[in-house]
Amino acid sequence: MTRVGLRRPGIYKSRDEMRSMIRPGLLTAESLDAVAAAIRPGVSTLELDAIAEKVIRDGGGVPNFMLVPGYSHTVCASVNDEVVHGIPGERVLRAGDIVSIDSGAEVDGWNGDSARTFVLDAADATEVDFERRRLNRVTEEALWHGIAALATARRLDEVGGAIEDHVESQGVFGIIEDYTGHGIGRSMHEDPPVFNYRVSGRSPVVKPGLVVAIEPMITLGTIDTVTQADDWTVSTTDGSDAAHWEHSVAVHDGGIWVLTAADGGASGLAPLGIRPVPIA
Ligand code: MG
Ligand code: MG
Repeated sequence: MTRVGLRRPGIYKSRDEMRSMIRPGLLTAESLDAVAAAIRPGVSTLELDAIAEKVIRDGGGVPNFMLVPGYSHTVCASVNDEVVHGIPGERVLRAGDIVSIDSGAEVDGWNGDSARTFVLDAADATEVDFERRRLNRVTEEALWHGIAALATARRLDEVGGAIEDHVESQGVFGIIEDYTGHGIGRSMHEDPPVFNYRVSGRSPVVKPGLVVAIEPMITLGTIDTVTQADDWTVSTTDGSDAAHWEHSVAVHDGGIWVLTAADGGASGLAPLGIRPVPIA
């Protein structure tokens, strides 16, 4: 029996619902493009937050992180040993810092969620900078391997398997397990969880209507995290550096489309032989 108006929300969305997620996805991407253009040694994370907020509001959206109870900023800015959920503030970025910026826009009740990590140029590259760049490259690659896996996966857990396999093929890194990717739609965080490593047990079927935020968080050391006294900032327990990349991705009749990339993920997926298809 179906009771109109009481339909239990499932994890699969209609094509029209997925189309509603195109605009917030692109606006999220634009906010990160603006951050990418502005981030450099000498800028504070609060300045980057203001830049992202202006782009989202000018584009007719609302910064969806502000809709999370207790959080009052547009982005999370996580520096060096901070993994995720760093609060923007007066901290001035320095040459060689590795900085994850996580942003999200809500438009007409639909959400986008994406993160990129930047290693700030240093005049004299040190061994630390080199390791941070390697970490950042592997984490971004891991994201694209996870997205590519989604294109052909029968079950969602294949995404985590692909991320784990790529990271392990590149050396010794820590894959954070305390935090995962997630479904996304009318809420920024929905079921199902998207693990960044191989899991056992039942995993959702990958079929048209699945929209997920895939977000590997990788470190140069431990997988253990601690939440700082500000109740938000998540850091590695051993002080090792971390990187974080994220995209919101839709599975539809024609294939997959990366909602938070202006090109739908074409450039990131090309090396992996996957061509994204716009949602018709
Ligand atoms: Mg995010
Ligand atoms: Mg997310």
